[in-house]
Parts: sequence; C-alpha cells; structure tokens
Amino acid sequence: MRKRELEIRLQSVRNFEDPSSALEQYMTPATIAADMLFEAYSRGDIRGLKVMDLGCGTGMLSIGSALLGAGMVVGFDVDPEALAIARSNASALGADVDFRESLIGDVSEGADTVVMNPPFGCQTPHADRPFLERALALSDCVYSIHMASTLGFVEDFCGRRGRSVFWRRTYKYDIPHQFSFHSKERQTVEVAAVGIR
Ligand code: SAH
Repeated sequence: MRKRELEIRLQSVRNFEDPSSALEQYMTPATIAADMLFEAYSRGDIRGLKVMDLGCGTGMLSIGSALLGAGMVVGFDVDPEALAIARSNASALGADVDFRESLIGDVSEGADTVVMNPPFGCQTPHADRPFLERALALSDCVYSIHMASTLGFVEDFCGRRGRSVFWRRTYKYDIPHQFSFHSKERQTVEVAAVGIR
C-alpha cells in the first residue's frame, strides 16, 4: 500500500465522541499518522511484526499498522468509550487489531515495535514521560509523537537509558477548539515524530 492510500483510508477513522481533557484525548491527524507509520514500514519495523499502540484512543495508529501488514497489533487504552469507537473503526476498515482496556503502566508484554501518540503533558506536566518509560522497557523500537518543543527532553531521556533517536520529523497542525479552556478558535501546534532504538 502506498502512503497516500494509507492516508486516505485513515481519514475515515472516527474521532473521540466526548474527549477527556484530563486524558489529553487528541486524535492524531491521518496525514501525520500515515507519514510516521509509513516511515516505520519502510524501515522494516511493521510488516509481519508484533506492534503495540500505547494509549491507542480511537485506534488511528493501531489500524494504520494493521493496514500496513503488521503480524499482530495490540492497542491499549484506559478509556472504554474510546476503545468501543476503536473497535468499530477497525471493523469498518477491515483491520485486525486486539484492543484492550488497560493503564499503560500495567502493560507487561513486549513487542517488536511500539507506536504511540501519548498525552503531551499540556494538562498534566510530563504526562508523556511514563509512556516513554514504558515503551522503551517493552520494545527495542519505538515510534512516538511529542510536542516539538520537548524534543530535547525526549532525546536526553533516551540517551540516559542507552537509547537514541534515529529519526525525527516535525509537523505543524491546527488543533480544533475542542476543550473549553482553549481560548483561540484554532491553535497551531508543532509536533515531532521520532523513531527510537
Ligand atoms: N493514540 C491515539 C490517541 C492519542 S490521545 C491517536 O493517535 O489518535 C492519548 C490517549 O492516551 C487517549 O486515548 C487517552 O485515553 C490515553 N491515555 C492517557 N493516559 C493513559 C494511561 N495512563 N493509560 C492508558 N491510556 C492512557
């Protein structure tokens, strides 16, 4: 499958119905998801492998991994309502994903590759830290999305654990006025996708 085709399919992934600001529920835009997953796929980190998605939300990254031919995909999230949407998204797109209700701190099985777009820590400072910690413990290969401004922190965090960022790409996107505390109608954020080994 080509990247453009993946992106078109992922455009139909349904968003959170009633997003929780405390859990920082933002769905990854299909363009960014397709770009990061295609990069992982091109590097041989998806096809035929076990992929886990930590904080899978409505399934964007899990479904994309399955469509790119992952051998097995498991998506974990604490929110049962998001998981119900994720299951319906996966079946609509013909993607085989095992969605499980779990805190990421309780995930103990490993994977060949972890993909994730964790909470950025805008509500709870450093909310992405436990996700990074868990992902690095569970897999030798991680693709993750963070605020571009925290890229230095992410690189240090990995370096201190003997790991390194081998790929990074930044994207700008508009987040819609989703929560009441957002003052502007739309806000542009700069995020960075990274690959870690
Ligand atoms: N990965 C999805 C959703 C990103 S939003 C996407 O790319 O579209 C972050 C997700 O992490 C939310 O669905 C939220 O419910 C989940 N989450 C936040 N804290 C969590 C925790 N401690 N354990 C499991 N899931 C968590």
